[in-house]
Amino acid sequence: MLEEVRQGVARRVAGGGPRPHLSVVLVGHHPASETYVRHKHRDAEQVGITSSDHRLPETVSTEEVVELVGHLNADPAVSGILVQTPLPPQVATGVALEAVDPARDVDGLHPLNQGRLLRDEEALVACTPAGILRLLDDHQVEIEGRRAVVIGRSTIVGKPVAILLLRRNATVTVCHSRTRELDEISRQADILVAALGRPHFVRPEMVKEGAAVVDVGINPVDGKLRGDVDPAVAEKAGWLSPVPGGVGPMTRAMLMWNTLKAEQLRRP
Ligand code: NDP
Repeated sequence: MLEEVRQGVARRVAGGGPRPHLSVVLVGHHPASETYVRHKHRDAEQVGITSSDHRLPETVSTEEVVELVGHLNADPAVSGILVQTPLPPQVATGVALEAVDPARDVDGLHPLNQGRLLRDEEALVACTPAGILRLLDDHQVEIEGRRAVVIGRSTIVGKPVAILLLRRNATVTVCHSRTRELDEISRQADILVAALGRPHFVRPEMVKEGAAVVDVGINPVDGKLRGDVDPAVAEKAGWLSPVPGGVGPMTRAMLMWNTLKAEQLRRP
């Protein structure tokens, strides 16, 4: 996928277009965020997208974040803007994310893009759910008419992935912490997406023989990365996107894809 983006960028530049640029807003010093952002810049460099960091101190106010985002919105050279979360508690995350120009919202978290997704309109879709669909497609997992179960209903993963699966004519059930008889429901899934943030929650007895299972979870346990799916599920599933690997790298690649897409949509 990164190679596809690299070629797309090269074609635009060869045609005289501007090189896409990704601006990342980073507030304070959050070790995990620092790592994510470093990866993003490395991915960008690999595909020929330029990128920059815009750092603000931990003590910043919501207004100051919004002001910086406003400057980036007004800069014609900026193709995509990403406000790295989590933000410090005094900053209203919703306000900061909503300040991003929807046409540059490469994280797909602006309400306008989420609304467009609901209405089946062209939108910048959040990277993790978009990446999950791309993974299923690239591995020829049939979606139409099949029963999909999504465990987790967050705005970033669970809900948008459920909508994307619905859009592709799956019959979708969304489960959450109040769901009763979750095991019984998950056993009916042809496609099971685990996005709840509970290490090794999905055990083999919760999975239908031959199902396609997507593990989204990233749970640090004793210095190691654990997914939401017990690795023993691999013996029962027909197809498994594991952790580490799978959705994480795909999410990163999708950010590059969205940066190019934002540029293409804004300046066709
Ligand atoms: P949230 O904490 O925002 O949402 C978790 C969801 O899971 C909630 O809807 C919650 O239900 C549900 N849930 C929690 N416990 C249970 C349970 N015991 N049974 C059923 N449902 C439960 O998490 P995110 O959606 O942001 O992330 C989910 C996981 O995916 C995390 O591990 C996160 O690190 C990972 N992630 C990975 C990404 C990647 O790039 N690979 C990107 C984003 C996230 P309720 O709504 O009722 O509280």
